[in-house]
Amino acid sequence: MTFDYDLFVIGGGSGGVRAARVASGEYGAKVGLAEESRMGGTCVIRGCVPKKLMVFASGFPEAFDEARAYGWEVGAARFDWTRFQSHLATELDRLEAAYRSTLSNAGVVVHDARATLVDPHRVRLADGQEFSARHILVATGGRPFVPEFPGAELAVTSNGMFDLATLPKRALVVGGGYIASEFACILHGLGVKVSQYYRGAQILRGFDDEARGHISNAMRARGIDIHCGTDVMRLERTQGGIRAVATDGTEREFDLVMYATGRRPNTEGLGLEALGVSLGRQGQIEVDRYSQTGVPSIFAVGDVTGRINLTPVAIREGHAFADTVFGAKPTAFDHELVASAVFTQPEMGSVGLSEEAARAQEPIEVYSTAFRPMKAAFAGKPDRVLMKLIVSQATRKVLGCHIVAPEAGEMIQLAAIAIRMGATKEDFDRTCAVHPTMAEELVTMRKPTRSA
Ligand code: NDP
Repeated sequence: MTFDYDLFVIGGGSGGVRAARVASGEYGAKVGLAEESRMGGTCVIRGCVPKKLMVFASGFPEAFDEARAYGWEVGAARFDWTRFQSHLATELDRLEAAYRSTLSNAGVVVHDARATLVDPHRVRLADGQEFSARHILVATGGRPFVPEFPGAELAVTSNGMFDLATLPKRALVVGGGYIASEFACILHGLGVKVSQYYRGAQILRGFDDEARGHISNAMRARGIDIHCGTDVMRLERTQGGIRAVATDGTEREFDLVMYATGRRPNTEGLGLEALGVSLGRQGQIEVDRYSQTGVPSIFAVGDVTGRINLTPVAIREGHAFADTVFGAKPTAFDHELVASAVFTQPEMGSVGLSEEAARAQEPIEVYSTAFRPMKAAFAGKPDRVLMKLIVSQATRKVLGCHIVAPEAGEMIQLAAIAIRMGATKEDFDRTCAVHPTMAEELVTMRKPTRSA
């Protein structure tokens, strides 16, 4: 049987673009790709990239303060949101164009339209065109989820944060995950008075408890008003803004309410259920370790599968799919020991098990140190850095590493290589320090802080 395409990819985000490029450019497959919005997906257009640029923008007030301590005369500084936005738009246009040229250089045919599945080998575009394909890859990502409650329509999500007409004076961020905590810090850094409501006992659930405590203390010390055990019951439009009536009995007014209460996979209306593709409770596509669904010609990668919702994971899953199906190299991406960073201020880098998860698994030693880094101490700032290693008593392997520090994301990338290779605590100890740095503490912690 002949097909229009060897592969049709639905979704031009990180996972879909990688799979399409490798299948076509490296393995010579005939590939079509449909994207209903802008090329690049969540990461490039409304996620990691614009978020990180906002993190950079929001860090300058602290840098100006520090500069004074280092002898600089710094005049009054003012943030121009509109100027930042227009520069951001130019940068995103550049990146989107780069994605498009990567695809066209690899020989991928791009269709700027929504695509749905008609049968296991056929897709239909919004304009009615249909194409047959030997394989179909669903890489449609996810979208912000806002729970149902009175006044929910008054809230914005991370999608709307880059297009705000003006920056609010007072903002409420709801949620305690990556996105909520990062945006609380970004808005605070840009001069917004920020409150964060989180229904649980401590923000950043799932991460190491000590690191979570360290970050929330630092966020509070900077002036972010974090309320744990607090949720919004309803939002009401007022003359001056939006009133948030909360479960702790408070009623407070804000100019902006941002919800970051998780994301849901984009599977609605794709026609998957009718073809017998099974979906999980949140709507995520269920796949095996090769990203194959129960329908053999249909595969899925990235956030739409709800495995680990991170860009580099989607990229690896997409690449592994192309290697498996078109490169005759069966490859399953290993979801263990994926490092990640949370771009709060201070930043967190984390790989492997938290102290709590490791303790539940086996006897461990914990090496942990919190100290004032040189740069902040000189500037008279109270900031502390946290460096923490979780070590197996039986194998001496480092099971987890957690860093809360400026540039922690950069540090954890390197620590992750050693941990991935199975480094023991003694391997860390044998490694000579780089001085003077913050990360040298990772190789100089001699005595366990505690055993468990
Ligand atoms: P998360 O799953 O990280 O956090 C969702 C938060 O919302 C949790 O605090 C959760 O509480 C809370 N929540 C969920 N449902 C409700 C509800 N009905 N009412 C009130 N609160 C609720 O999701 P995010 O949206 O922050 O991020 C989505 C994903 O994107 C992340 O999992 C991450 O993989 C990825 N991401 C990664 C980043 C990075 O690598 N730096 C940055 C941004 C996103 P509870 O803890 O009680 O469940």
